Amino acid sequence: MRHVGSILDLAHHMNLHRGPRFRSRWCVLALAALVSACDRTDPAVPTSLVPVGANALTARAGETLSAPPAVILTDQRSRALANTLVTWQTGASSGSIDIDTVRTDATGRAAIGRWTLGPIVGLQTLTATVSDVEPVVFRVTVSAGAASALLRRVPEFQETRVESRVPQAPAVQVVDAFGNPVAGEAVTFVVTNGGGVLLDATGAAAGVQITRTSDANGVAQVDGWRVGTNVTEQNRVVASLASLGTGATFRVNPRADVPARLEAAAPRSQQGVPGVDVPSRPAVRALDRFGNPAGGATVVFTPRDGAGVVIGNVRVTADGDGIARVGRWTLGTDSVQRLDATSPQFPADTFTFTATAVASIFSFDVRFLNGTPSARNLAAVETAVERWRRVIAGQTPPVRVVANPDVCGPGVPAIDEDIVNVRVYVNLDSIDGRGSILGRAGPCFIRTTSGLPVVGFVELDTADLATLDQNGTLDDVMTHEFGHVLGLQAFNWERRGLLNTTNSNDPFFQGSIGRDGFADIGGAIYPGIPVPVEETGGAGTRLSHWRASVLQRELMVGFARTGGMPLSRLTVGALADLGYVVRVDNAEAFTVPPFGSAAWGEMVMPGSTRVLSYGDDHWPTAVYEVDRSGRQRLVRAGDWRVTRRR
Ligand SMILES: [Zn+2]
Repeated sequence: MRHVGSILDLAHHMNLHRGPRFRSRWCVLALAALVSACDRTDPAVPTSLVPVGANALTARAGETLSAPPAVILTDQRSRALANTLVTWQTGASSGSIDIDTVRTDATGRAAIGRWTLGPIVGLQTLTATVSDVEPVVFRVTVSAGAASALLRRVPEFQETRVESRVPQAPAVQVVDAFGNPVAGEAVTFVVTNGGGVLLDATGAAAGVQITRTSDANGVAQVDGWRVGTNVTEQNRVVASLASLGTGATFRVNPRADVPARLEAAAPRSQQGVPGVDVPSRPAVRALDRFGNPAGGATVVFTPRDGAGVVIGNVRVTADGDGIARVGRWTLGTDSVQRLDATSPQFPADTFTFTATAVASIFSFDVRFLNGTPSARNLAAVETAVERWRRVIAGQTPPVRVVANPDVCGPGVPAIDEDIVNVRVYVNLDSIDGRGSILGRAGPCFIRTTSGLPVVGFVELDTADLATLDQNGTLDDVMTHEFGHVLGLQAFNWERRGLLNTTNSNDPFFQGSIGRDGFADIGGAIYPGIPVPVEETGGAGTRLSHWRASVLQRELMVGFARTGGMPLSRLTVGALADLGYVVRVDNAEAFTVPPFGSAAWGEMVMPGSTRVLSYGDDHWPTAVYEVDRSGRQRLVRAGDWRVTRRR
């Protein structure tokens, strides 16, 4: 039997290399030697499939097993069974394998090359099957992979008052690359901004840094977070893990606490004009106990006897910035006038705002370039200034102007200062000989918020000044040019949406106060669209003046004439549309001549024209916006050097 057994072993060995056909020939040969041996053959039958090593494993989600599963197949006599197909199949959600059928080798062993586990935590399986044999199931208990991210478990942004707890304490979940919770990770919570503190379970301060270990759900959290006391600072807590580059941030922009006191939020003392609103509306600010602006306080504004009237809001509830501001305070006739601000909630905090009545608080800071002007020319400038000051009551606030020399015009020095109202550089120089351009003017710096000019330039042609004086137009021409500096021109009108040029043959000014003024001076029966703007002439004439064919000798038409050029309610209204505080009642008397009468004035300069064009009288400089802190922005390109004609 031993002999036969060894022959059969050999036969099995040969099978591995030769296949079934060879087996039958070998049996024939074996039969010749030992008939009984083949008669007793029990063909090798797959009987037992066993795992190589353990079939209960542990691994992490998504991991590729370093030692891929293998099985050994034996027959009914426990002999290795080679060359037999083993089928491999992963269970549900159990990842992937590189090959699903493998033949056993000479030792009966069959192994796959690679098993990459699926992303699910829990049990994953791989089954090796051979027909009619109990299959082998490899079971892997899969745990989460390495920590890959921190997920916020409460909102990134929460709301609360200063120095109070956030509704939901910062909490994160540590997860692996597949979103599986990762337990046992040390998460550090740090207050990085805002001056708050983390709290312990009793609500007591526990410091600005706390480390917590993630639980079975991967969750790590602190017990509480109390934010700081400053509403202007964002409070932040960052949760982080040493093994991760990025953390999870929690943010609170705290609200102010309830109002605790008031303070003045406008100048306590200012100048004003009787019958006109004060330049700076009185206001108080409510603050919480930490000095944050706090809304909700009620403030009552009361002018004393002789101190004019409050129009609009008298009783004001402070807004979100803590500000309660009177609607308007139109001054009365007293030389010193007072307005009280009181609050029923804070009887001790009463504020008195004082206004000193003056004729006008608008002023021109005139700087002469090119030497001292003649007494006559100086008088013309003074006249122009006084005419505009009669109709402009309010002050325009200071802004910081910083400029290199010559930015605004030739000879203008460097500027680096706060300028209130308007500064005008006046250059009396030769431009183009007698006639043609009389002068040119315009702003070069305007205020960012209001658009009102802060620095301007006026240039007058010395070749024409004496002639203008002789025919009596010098004062009017000077006043006209200062009007352009104040913003009475296309550029400023367009910035304020006051100029409509949809129909290039019929441009019109559409400011409502200017239109009212036009109606007041006889324009109510004008058959076209009010207020007509000059549609003829060169670049500086067209669109920057009232239409001369309608407004005739009004100050701001594009043609000078003798006999007086009144500063009418139309022009004062246009100033109000630009944003100036004005006194319309101080406008100069003027009525539009009946339409169609073409009452042209007399010729004022030698030559063939009956009226004298200003020519292109806008100053072709770059214009910058400036604000209180000196920030500048170019809003109109230009360079007086390029277009200046000498
Ligand atoms: Zn002009």
